[in-house]
Amino acid sequence: MNYSPLKTFANREDENDQLSEFRNDFFYPKNSEGENLIYFCGNSLGLQPKSVPSLIKKELQVWENDGVKGQENRWIDYHERLTEPSANLVGAKPSEVVIMNALTVNIHLLLVSFYRPTKKRFKIIIEKDAFPSDQYAIDSQINFHGFDKKEAIIEIEPRIGEKIINEEDISNTIKKHGDEVALIYLGGINYYTGQLFDMKSISLVAKKYNIIVGFNLAHCAGNVELSLHEWGVDFASWCTYKYLCAGPGAPSGVFIHEDHHKWIGPRFSGWWGHDKKTRFQMPSDFNPIKTAEGWQISNAPILGMVPIIASLNIYNLAGMKKIREKGVRLTGYLEFLINHFLSNVLILTPKRKGSQISIVIEKGKIVFDTLMEKGLVCDWREPDVIRLAPHPLFNTYKEVFNSVQLIKKVLDE
Ligand SMILES: *Cc1c(COP(=O)(O)O)cnc(C)c1O
Repeated sequence: MNYSPLKTFANREDENDQLSEFRNDFFYPKNSEGENLIYFCGNSLGLQPKSVPSLIKKELQVWENDGVKGQENRWIDYHERLTEPSANLVGAKPSEVVIMNALTVNIHLLLVSFYRPTKKRFKIIIEKDAFPSDQYAIDSQINFHGFDKKEAIIEIEPRIGEKIINEEDISNTIKKHGDEVALIYLGGINYYTGQLFDMKSISLVAKKYNIIVGFNLAHCAGNVELSLHEWGVDFASWCTYKYLCAGPGAPSGVFIHEDHHKWIGPRFSGWWGHDKKTRFQMPSDFNPIKTAEGWQISNAPILGMVPIIASLNIYNLAGMKKIREKGVRLTGYLEFLINHFLSNVLILTPKRKGSQISIVIEKGKIVFDTLMEKGLVCDWREPDVIRLAPHPLFNTYKEVFNSVQLIKKVLDE
């Protein structure tokens, strides 16, 4: 891409930015002098859409005025408002998506159904140094089934001397272990390195060996374009508080391919997964909804879901294609400027990525603390990475330019 290190370049890009108006839809964090910080942490907690307070107030008002009647008239199918826009975001049919619970909880519920180890086929392929919650979930599921993680887990790791996973090694691992493998479970984007995996190819190879394919899309949803249905992914889950800006602890999204909707295998059930027509007849036998909603357990946390509506409205207006295009350009610009202006900075993130650059700097923690003090909000991940995530909906090219100048100044000092 054609970038320039001149500041005028950033100004011009901002003027031509078709998404620039969306920045006004978010509250922007400020320092004690009331000046905007540079917020590059949308990969950890996205900013608050300005429509959130009034939307929440509205539900509080219904509760205040109508009490339990709000349940019947408004909230019983409230979560369904989130389905179609969420499905669009991940490339799914509406029947394949449901918003419920929290991410790791959903991972467990999905593994209960989709990890069904046998004596011959019990292994799980995961990435080495996956997000800790994924490792704990996988380990505990393996334990739960009476297997030993030392035997059951196949970790894919970078080659010696390399920092990121070579995609060839994923398909080679699948081919090598083929019929011993029950499940491949990866983060679509690795939270630490920012590496984006080729989910389409991985699914294709895994399917050839009858391996179930699951993805954790915490760092993908709202960040990169996805086609989960078409790729033949079996299941996936994501949180909505990172790129999707739906607020701390907001409920998570789940994808279950329609091939599984007539599910008769194991599942942890609850009344909200029961057929809607007979749910309130309070029958004793569970008759699941024949969509992803069949995996619901409890009635929906309405107040937690409201901000998802606010955020999906913005995503819907902006369109994922344009969001991704700007994400690529903005993040590419950040990478270009780091290479141009900074020395002794290692970029971990490979070419295939979302809107995140992970950098390694000597004495990184001190550099990170100084950046935070001086108004660049980014994050630090042990043992040695600073993650910078410019968000295409609320960050500008000027901020990218200024952030690199700030890092340069801090390094020079
Ligand atoms: C953010 C993140 C989580 C968070 O899990 P919660 O259950 O929402 O607390 C899990 N996995 C990955 C890969 C993440 O990036």
